[in-house]
Amino acid sequence: MPRTIPVPAWLKRILVPCWNTAHRYGWVAHDYLEAVGHCRFERCVVCGRFRPMLYRRRVIPRRLEELWGLSPRLAEALARKESSDCAHCGAKLRCRRIAQVLLTLFPVGTPPAPARSLAEWVEHPESQALRVAEINRIDGLHNPLGRLPRFTSSDYHPGTTPGAIIGGVRSEDLTRLTYSDASFDLVLTSETLEHVPDLDAALREIRRVLAPGGRHIFTIPVLPQTSKTFPRAVVLPDGSVQDRAPRIAHPGGDWGYPVFTEFGADFPERLRHAGLNVEIFFGPTRDDDLAQVYVCRVPG
Ligand SMILES: [Zn+2]
Repeated sequence: MPRTIPVPAWLKRILVPCWNTAHRYGWVAHDYLEAVGHCRFERCVVCGRFRPMLYRRRVIPRRLEELWGLSPRLAEALARKESSDCAHCGAKLRCRRIAQVLLTLFPVGTPPAPARSLAEWVEHPESQALRVAEINRIDGLHNPLGRLPRFTSSDYHPGTTPGAIIGGVRSEDLTRLTYSDASFDLVLTSETLEHVPDLDAALREIRRVLAPGGRHIFTIPVLPQTSKTFPRAVVLPDGSVQDRAPRIAHPGGDWGYPVFTEFGADFPERLRHAGLNVEIFFGPTRDDDLAQVYVCRVPG
C-alpha cells in the first residue's frame, strides 16, 4: 500500500484554489496555442474584432458521446459548434452563425460600408425598428441584441407563472407564451426546441406571436444519420413523462435538460407542410459541420 501523507486543512485551503487557477490558465494557454497552431483566426461577426477562435473539445462530455452514439468526427463537429469561441466576446460558432444570418437577411448600412458585425448592426435605425424576442438567453448574442430598443428576452423558470419577472428576467413557457399575437418581427431560439415537451404547441405559439412576414431564426441539434424526427419522451395527460427512446440530457448526457425531441433531416419538410417558408443556412448537416441555422418565415 502506498503511504499517503495527510495534508492539514489549512494547507488544503491554500493549495486547492492555486491548483484550480493553474489548471484554468493551463487550459486557456492550451486553447490559444491550439488556435495559433491551426491558424484559427477570423473577424468575429458578433463583436467585429479579428481574434483567435478557441476550439474546446472538452465541452462535449464523453457520457453524451456515448449515449448519443457520436463518432469521434461527429463529437468534434459538435464541439466546434458549441465552442470555437471568439477570444474577445466569447461568441461560440452557432451564435456567430445566427449573427451572420441576421446580417444577411436584414442588411443595413449603405454599400460599400454595410454593417459587418452585430455590434455595428444594432446601431442602425433599420435594425432598431425590429421587434425581437429572444426566448431563452443566447449567450454571446444577448448583450449586443440587448441594445435594440424593441428587444425582449425571457428564460424558462419551471413552476412560475408565464410572463412573471423572476430575478429581473421574464419567465416564458414556449408552449404558452404571454406575448400578444403578431407582436414580433423576429423570434430567436438556440438549442431550445429539443427540450420542449410539446413541440407542436411551441411551434404554434412562435407562429402566433410573429407578425406576417416575421421570422423564427433558430438552431437545433441534428445528426446527419437521423433521417426522421422522433420523440425521446412524451408527457402523458396525467403530467407524467413516458420514455419512447433511451433518455438523453444536454449537456451532460445523463445530466442537464432532458431531450424530448430528436430532430432529423425531415424536420424542415415538416415545417413546410405547416405552411412555413423554410431556409437552411450553412447546410446541409454533415458529419464535420453540425452548426446549421434554420429560418422559418411566416407568410405575409
Ligand atoms: Zn467576438
